[in-house]
Amino acid sequence: KAKTGSISNYVFFSSEMHAQEMEKLAIINDLQQALERNEFELYYQPQFSLNKQEVYGFEALIRWNHQEKGIIPPLKFIPIAEETGIIIEIGKWVLRTACLQQVAWYQQHAKAMCVAVNISMKEFQNTSFIGSVSNIIKETGIDSKYLELEITESIAMCDVKFVIQTLIQLKELGVSISIDDFGTGYSSLHVLKTLPIDQLKIDRSFIQDIQSNHQDKAIVETFITLAKKLQLSLVAEGVELDDQRKFLEELHCDIIQGYLISPPLKAQDTLRYLQ
Ligand code: C2E
Ligand code: MG
Ligand code: MG
Ligand code: MG
Repeated sequence: KAKTGSISNYVFFSSEMHAQEMEKLAIINDLQQALERNEFELYYQPQFSLNKQEVYGFEALIRWNHQEKGIIPPLKFIPIAEETGIIIEIGKWVLRTACLQQVAWYQQHAKAMCVAVNISMKEFQNTSFIGSVSNIIKETGIDSKYLELEITESIAMCDVKFVIQTLIQLKELGVSISIDDFGTGYSSLHVLKTLPIDQLKIDRSFIQDIQSNHQDKAIVETFITLAKKLQLSLVAEGVELDDQRKFLEELHCDIIQGYLISPPLKAQDTLRYLQ
C-alpha cells in the first residue's frame, strides 16, 4: 500500500538528516494512515455579504487531528501530500465532506449556503478530476450552483489551453470557479479575461495594512474595479479589523472573510452560527 512514502526508502540518509526533513518523513508516513483513521476534519469559515448583511457561504479548510501531534495546519501537510500524490485521495474526501455539509445546511437551515473548496494543482491536473467532481456531485445530491472551487493563480496560468478546457468542463457541471490569493501570483490580465471564472479572492496581504498603506489601498481599489468590469464577484480575505471592513464597504466590496466575521468553525458550530 505505502508505495510512495515508505520510510524505508529514505532511511539510509538518516545520519545527515535535519530535524525538518525527519519531520517531513514522519508526515509522509502518517499521511498514508490518516485517511483510514479518519483524522482529517473540515472547518468552515463564514463569508459575509456586506450588501445583504448576511452569510453568503463558507470556505472549507482542512485540519489534521494527528493522534500524537495534535492539530496540524494544512500548510504543513498539503504540500507534502501533493508531492506524494496522496492529495488526490484527500481532495476527494474534502470535496465529498464539504458537499455533504452543504446539503446538511440546506436541510437544517432551509436556506442554501455556498461552500468553497480549495483545489490543489495536482488535483486539478489529475486526469480523473472532472469525473470525481461529477461523481461527488451526484453522490451527495448537492445543487452544484452552490459549490465553488478555489484555484490559485499559479494553477490558472500554468497551461492555459488545458486550464480553459478543464474550467469549461467544470462550468458544465454547474460549479463556480474562484481565483484564490489573487494578487500574490503573476496573473496575466490577458489570460485572466479569457478564463471562465466567477470570482476573485483578494489575498489578505493586501488587506492587512489597507488603512495605513496607500499602495495597498490603491491596489485593492483597482482589484475591486477590475472585478466589477469583468463581472466577477469579489471576496476580501483576512479581514480582521472593523476599520478594514469599513474601508471595503466604502469601496463597494461585497463579500468579506476573516477573523472579524468569524474564525473557521467546526461543522457542528456552523448551524448555531447561522441561527
Ligand atoms: P486559503 O485558501 O487562502 O485560506 C485562507 C487561510 O487564511 C486559512 O488558513 C484561514 O484559516 C486563514 N484566515 C482566515 N481569516 C483570517 C484572518 O482574518 N487573518 C489571518 N491571519 N488568517 C486568516 P488555513 O486554514 O491554515 O489554510 C491555509 C491554506 O491551506 C489555505 O489558504 C489553502 O491554500 C490550503 N488549504 C486549506 N484547506 C485545504 C484543502 O482542503 N485542500 C487544499 N488543497 N488546500 C487547502
Ligand atoms: Mg482558499
Ligand atoms: Mg486565500
Ligand atoms: Mg492560500
